[in-house]
Amino acid sequence: MDKTQVYEAVEKLDRRTNTYVPVSGGCESAWALSYSHYHKDHFPAVVHWYDPRYGLFADASLFYAKKQAEYYGYTLVWDSSRLSEIGYTTEIPIIVTGIASFMTVALGKPHGMQLKWIMSGANSEDDLRMRIMFREYRKIMACIESDALDASNISYEVLGQTPQLISPGEFLTKSEMLAMMMTRDPNLVELIWTCPKPKGVLKSKDEITGYVPCGACYKCLEFEAARKNAQDAVMRYAMGVEYYSKFWRHENKMDAVQQAWEKQNETQHKDKKVSE
Ligand SMILES: [Zn+2]
Repeated sequence: MDKTQVYEAVEKLDRRTNTYVPVSGGCESAWALSYSHYHKDHFPAVVHWYDPRYGLFADASLFYAKKQAEYYGYTLVWDSSRLSEIGYTTEIPIIVTGIASFMTVALGKPHGMQLKWIMSGANSEDDLRMRIMFREYRKIMACIESDALDASNISYEVLGQTPQLISPGEFLTKSEMLAMMMTRDPNLVELIWTCPKPKGVLKSKDEITGYVPCGACYKCLEFEAARKNAQDAVMRYAMGVEYYSKFWRHENKMDAVQQAWEKQNETQHKDKKVSE
């Protein structure tokens, strides 16, 4: 989105919007989105940062982040980030982009938006870095809003209004999050993208219909393991035949993506031969 598009998209958000929900396209942020969607007090602003340096991976992440937002009826607000071009250092971790953007929205209050929460999809296996780093950002926000030079003079009223980072799923494993989504929203699970090395793009006419995961990288294997574990919940919690069938249908659909990819390649190969 360019500046004007971001402005227009934010202007169209529900006036009650109070929750900043960063969605990467992956499993945990999809869970965080569903948490916010079903929470009676949350009105989500669904956001994404697109980093062109990551090529097809970035394209796939944006594609599925948009689909996930639309699945629940939200418009994805996204912007480009080129922070990765300076490289990853321990001094400047990549997540700074997200935190700083959140702070800009929280303090800038575009179109009068009053944020109360920022959603983090952190699970029980994730490290605490992001959650700890947020302390300083909340301190800056509380100081600015209190017109205080340091935290000695923060007002209680302001602090009560300072948006909080919440990680409501921090006691859940990836597979537990996946199982929760599968129980309620099996179609959302199909829109999760985790592979950093996509094989390619599926097209119908000239329109992109999906991306094809490599099925072999560590993220694909991690997702596959979580899916298998979630599928086994049918044994642990007696979740029933319907729960099992959802996984079975999911597996078939994932296989169909790979088959469509092979077929598309075959057709292109033939077309190439004809033109030769
Ligand atoms: Zn992969």
